[in-house]
Amino acid sequence: MGRKISEKARQKMSLAKLGKPSPRKGIRLSDELRKKLSLAHMGRRPTEETRIKMSISQTGRICWWKGKRGSEAANWQGGRVDQIKILRNSEEFKQWRIKVFQRDCHTCQECGSNKSNALQAHHIIPIRKDLTRIFDLNNGITLCQTCHGRTWWNEEKFEEKYFKIVNSKNLVLV
Ligand SMILES: [Zn+2]
Repeated sequence: MGRKISEKARQKMSLAKLGKPSPRKGIRLSDELRKKLSLAHMGRRPTEETRIKMSISQTGRICWWKGKRGSEAANWQGGRVDQIKILRNSEEFKQWRIKVFQRDCHTCQECGSNKSNALQAHHIIPIRKDLTRIFDLNNGITLCQTCHGRTWWNEEKFEEKYFKIVNSKNLVLV
């Protein structure tokens, strides 16, 4: 420790501590590094292990989508939100709604309201849980806006009841 350090070396050290020996050089280096990194990552899919790690780190994070803009947040979910949006706007979806309303005689199956402008087709098993049943007539039931609102994030509580209603209609039809 008692070693004498030359003036030049000391200057170098203090510059290194500041973290910018030469600002220009630093920028060029990081650019190059970034290019190299992006090239290295191109076309490479994450391994199963890193994918698991990634999902763990994601679930461990609270509100990871906070502060992210809509499309960015959607990308975090692997474009799933976009996929649902496309399906919801499809002709098949419109047809599904019409069929659900027709089968239920345009009447809310919860309270009996038949105000047509307030009627909605509810997915008994929500599409966020099972997207394959989005156009399944047996997975749809007519509810008014108010009754539909009560099912949000509580769908499981209504599953049994609504499936019974829908199944009873199918028996009548047969
Ligand atoms: Zn209702």
